Amino acid sequence: MNSLLKNYNAIQFQIDKAREAAAAPAGHTQLIAVSKRQPDELLRAALELGLRYFGENQLQEAQRRWPALKAEYPDITLHCIGNLQSNKVAQAVALFDVIHSVDREKIARLIQAACQEQHKEVLCLIQVNIGEEPQKAGVSVNELPAFLELCQKELGLNVIGLMAIPPEGKNPAPYFALMQRLAARHQLPHLSMGMSSDFETAIRFGATYIRVGTALFGARQVA
Ligand SMILES: *Cc1c(COP(=O)(O)O)cnc(C)c1O
Repeated sequence: MNSLLKNYNAIQFQIDKAREAAAAPAGHTQLIAVSKRQPDELLRAALELGLRYFGENQLQEAQRRWPALKAEYPDITLHCIGNLQSNKVAQAVALFDVIHSVDREKIARLIQAACQEQHKEVLCLIQVNIGEEPQKAGVSVNELPAFLELCQKELGLNVIGLMAIPPEGKNPAPYFALMQRLAARHQLPHLSMGMSSDFETAIRFGATYIRVGTALFGARQVA
């Protein structure tokens, strides 16, 4: 058995166990395979295993590899999980189906404009800087209500949930718990949280999208 299949089976098993512990309904958590800086052969192998949700954090790399694969596998859903620069928003809207990193007013307005121009709807998640870390993107917990109102009411974006990356080296559970409360308070159905090292914990706190790279594909190539 090759290691991708072995990893995939192990992750599925861990997802099922965490879901049972959380009493979440089957199918409640979707695995996003984070394919950034992984070789193209591994993406093909993942597609052959039946994976269809993929996450990229860098537009150029995503543009190089996904249009051809999307033509071949039309049911792929492509998730943007990285910081968006304002001059790249239109291209991101053209390529991605879901944007997890809506994190400031300028980007939200550009997404709305690009959607209108391209006659396309993208699903949006608001990135929350849940640990209030100065080096991290995302709106603060305090800014969230006003930012959500802007995105939903004024811009009419289809906001389906919240995304966060908790501080490194700390127990993520309290951060995931806060994210769960925020999503419930704002009646948002999706929570994008949990990576290779903490997705089981994230599922316990209601993650609906987990973003897993190295645990599935192995170590990434150097940038
Ligand atoms: C790279 C990345 C991941 C995947 O990280 P792993 O630890 O390899 O699972 C998840 N989310 C975001 C936003 C990322 O940039």
